[in-house]
Amino acid sequence: MTEWKYCPKCEGEMADGYTVDQGYGTASVPTWREGEPRKSIWVGLKLGGTTPIEITTWRCRRCGYLESYAPGA
Ligand SMILES: [Zn+2]
Repeated sequence: MTEWKYCPKCEGEMADGYTVDQGYGTASVPTWREGEPRKSIWVGLKLGGTTPIEITTWRCRRCGYLESYAPGA
């Protein structure tokens, strides 16, 4: 990726990256879903019906500000 961004807070250089959901022995990239979370006492959250979009997060090298994007349809 050659796109370059500058921090909206301090105008420092921002690095492209992603955040990680780290569990016991597993790691996954968090995703964004449209609408309200529907909680279930059995499975935590019901995830049916909506399309997950992986979240890209930019981080400012100077002040640490994070800016997240969930690109796609
Ligand atoms: Zn900054």
